[in-house]
Amino acid sequence: METASRIRWFRRRAPASRSSAAAVYRFDPADFSPAIRTRLLILQPTPFCNIDCDYCYLPERDSTACMSLATVRCAAERLRADELVGPELTVVWHAGEPLTMPPAFFDDAVAVLREVLGPWCDVTHSIQTNATLIDDEWCELFKRHGIRIGVSVDGPAGLHDAHRRTRTGRGTHERVLRGMARLRAHGIEFHAIAVVTPASFAQADAFYDFFIEQGVSELGCNYDEAEGGYEHSSLAGQEPAHAAFVARLLERSSAGGSPLRVRELALALHLIAQPIPTYRWQGQDWPENAQTLPFALITVAHNGDFSSFSPELLGQPSAEFGNFILGNVATEGYFDSARSERFERLWCAIVRGTRECERSCAHYGFCGGGAPVNKLYENGDLASGETLYCRTMFKRPFDAVLKRLERDHTAFEAVSSGALREPFEQECQ
Ligand code: SF4
Repeated sequence: METASRIRWFRRRAPASRSSAAAVYRFDPADFSPAIRTRLLILQPTPFCNIDCDYCYLPERDSTACMSLATVRCAAERLRADELVGPELTVVWHAGEPLTMPPAFFDDAVAVLREVLGPWCDVTHSIQTNATLIDDEWCELFKRHGIRIGVSVDGPAGLHDAHRRTRTGRGTHERVLRGMARLRAHGIEFHAIAVVTPASFAQADAFYDFFIEQGVSELGCNYDEAEGGYEHSSLAGQEPAHAAFVARLLERSSAGGSPLRVRELALALHLIAQPIPTYRWQGQDWPENAQTLPFALITVAHNGDFSSFSPELLGQPSAEFGNFILGNVATEGYFDSARSERFERLWCAIVRGTRECERSCAHYGFCGGGAPVNKLYENGDLASGETLYCRTMFKRPFDAVLKRLERDHTAFEAVSSGALREPFEQECQ
């Protein structure tokens, strides 16, 4: 019954009418209730990647620069100094290929973070890897620290090797299979993130079966987003084919006994059961979307430069926003950086973009204003609304799930009874 009322509410919801195009917004953490806490700390141990996927947006993946333990310590101490530490924090080691760092770095970094943050919060570590370097030593380290592993793999060899290749042009699928075999041999559960393209849509069942065969329990379906130096997504003009792909994944994953959960569909189910919470900010509601809530998500580069909002923004060329670098953990705190004109420009644009979503989109109460980085690269403006990204990653899966729930409420019962876990939070290619 509750499902039906939520669906009716969703359909009745009227868009907000106020326009805020010319307003200037000041950021003061004291204006938010409850207080802002950082949920995701993304640490980029190195920009270097040992392979060279053709859809990669990272501008410095040839650089072998590394993060120091002093930077790890500063990043954590700044969280404490700004009282951004809540009861739980996820540290995501991402950008470039984290496993090109020596294993000893992670032993030491985990110890530093435990020392600085351990008395105040539960820290969970997560690594997104291309899996080509996973061996028994890495598996022992993952188990030692309870590190959650996400493997970037695009499905069967033909799909994967078309894009995920070495610098000399060789496919990496075989090496990824070996890495996943090591994880299974050590009893390490892992999720997978695939970048889907129109070629994936043509073989949805083979794509889905591959992940079941590999023992993957959760699958995120990203796509080749237009970001940074990667200017054209292969999904442009292919949205009907993507809709059919989503429908097929929904059919497969909701069939009784399927061991594979699809992140976007599970997230839709979760949100239909429980729309995103809101903060109070300056007398209005503000969505708890980590990409639009300042410092809920912080990204720190190998050299200590940091940013907030969408993690992909850090270091992307921008004269207006200073490459989205808000400061450096060695010299200033996170909230100190929010007093700069650069931050104010960025915050104002993100507020306007979020308000545009609120005004124009019926999904706003479930999405909370989407991803600023995609607004910037697709629409040329952070202060804008809908994108191909939000249609692909959110609206289409959400609508497919909602449509199915209208026919069959039992899937909703599974969510409310806790049979589905929280969807994993990170995304990357
Ligand atoms: S990002 Fe897209 S789905 Fe989300 S609120 Fe804005 S227009 Fe709606």
